[in-house]
Amino acid sequence: MSTPTQAAKPKKPRIIIPGTQYHRIRKAVQAICFIIFVTLPLFDIMRIDLPRQRFYFFGAELWISEFSIVFLTLMFMWILIAAMAMIYGRFWCGYLCPQMIFSETANGLEKRIIRFVNKQMPNAGTRSRRISAAILFSLVLLPASVFVTFVFVSYFVPPLDLFHRLLSLDMRTAGGIVGASVTLVTFLDFALLRERFCTAICPYGYLQNMLKDKHTLLVRFHDPKDECIKCSKCVRACPMGIDIRKSSHQLECTHCAECIDACSGILGKLGTHSVIQYAWGDSGAHSAAEGNWFRRIGLRDGKRVAVLVLLLVYATGLSIAIGLRQPVLLRIMPDRITLYSVAPDGQVHNRFRMLASNRGQVRVSVSLSIADLKGASIEEIEDRKVLEPGESVQQHFDVVVPPSSLHPGINRIRILADVTPGKTGQQFSETFFAPQTPSASPDNEK
Ligand code: SF4
Ligand code: SF4
Repeated sequence: MSTPTQAAKPKKPRIIIPGTQYHRIRKAVQAICFIIFVTLPLFDIMRIDLPRQRFYFFGAELWISEFSIVFLTLMFMWILIAAMAMIYGRFWCGYLCPQMIFSETANGLEKRIIRFVNKQMPNAGTRSRRISAAILFSLVLLPASVFVTFVFVSYFVPPLDLFHRLLSLDMRTAGGIVGASVTLVTFLDFALLRERFCTAICPYGYLQNMLKDKHTLLVRFHDPKDECIKCSKCVRACPMGIDIRKSSHQLECTHCAECIDACSGILGKLGTHSVIQYAWGDSGAHSAAEGNWFRRIGLRDGKRVAVLVLLLVYATGLSIAIGLRQPVLLRIMPDRITLYSVAPDGQVHNRFRMLASNRGQVRVSVSLSIADLKGASIEEIEDRKVLEPGESVQQHFDVVVPPSSLHPGINRIRILADVTPGKTGQQFSETFFAPQTPSASPDNEK
């Protein structure tokens, strides 16, 4: 703590150079995204199993037929993409997109290989060194492409199955041919296209252009005091080869902020700030320059708040739908081809049908019992019906009731289903038909 006797030390004027960290932040975020990209399908956190028509979502095995969950998930993803494009512009492109991550990795790798070859072959001609570097780059890129393709295809087929196909160099089945084709496309993409993919093929840039408005985050050249020294360092640093000074709305711009770092680096040495900054729209303030936390994170109008509330609603609905989901789907329906039949011993039979699907990942057994009718039993179905993971069965069974427990005509019963493990119970309210008179035959009751 300072005392009155201590003279306050004069502070050195400090130049804050906003933006010089963007490259490092981007690389850290990209590394995390790469880990997420690899782990999502390999650990069933999120992937679609096309052959088995399953959707894996944070460990839960959802069936494509589970419409509500699939619908909520798709809506959530779509609103998330729209919200991100509207509020944060091309943040996805610059920081999160696998295409950009691998393109930049390929660029870095190629530069290193060229440096390495130049160092190892100082006396060789330019052409020889270029060819050697290209061959070496292709030799590294090929296994990398196989790995990236493996992870990508794992989003749609079981990784273990894919691994076995890869080991056996399967080129005969449809899966093997698709895998080889995707590998070739990946190789050509990162050998020849890289960032050109973003402007020539990817639809996200066009989509973002449609969703942006006057408050959307962008990278902006703003030089009211005429501080730009026209060094063109920002142009040389731009991986997309554009000049941000011409416009903040160029389709090629992925908002990666390399130009901000470049400008901060050069103008910082001259004791001033970068004239290129992240900003909330053309006339908005610099992204970090406003007080309120919600304005600083981009919530600058009611439209954005509404979109986030909608996102929250879908996220809540999705969580509830997953939370309420039963791993074993049971349906019990009456089979009304015959209303009832009377056995020689006088017991009355009604026929039912059970549909059971084990949507979980462990073996389960299902047992049925009858409530509400004394002496009722179930015939033609095992005491405990065992279902393997992913198995679905359809089975008919009879509910048999002694006539002394029945009213003439309509009776109400409950069929109780007990599922183990988990001891989850389900009950189905059904109608049981009995003869109107003790001597009535089933045919004249139909
Ligand atoms: S202009 Fe700047 S933000 Fe846009 S792509 Fe080029 S370096 Fe990245
Ligand atoms: S790096 Fe900055 S100072 Fe240099 S030309 Fe670009 S905007 Fe101007």
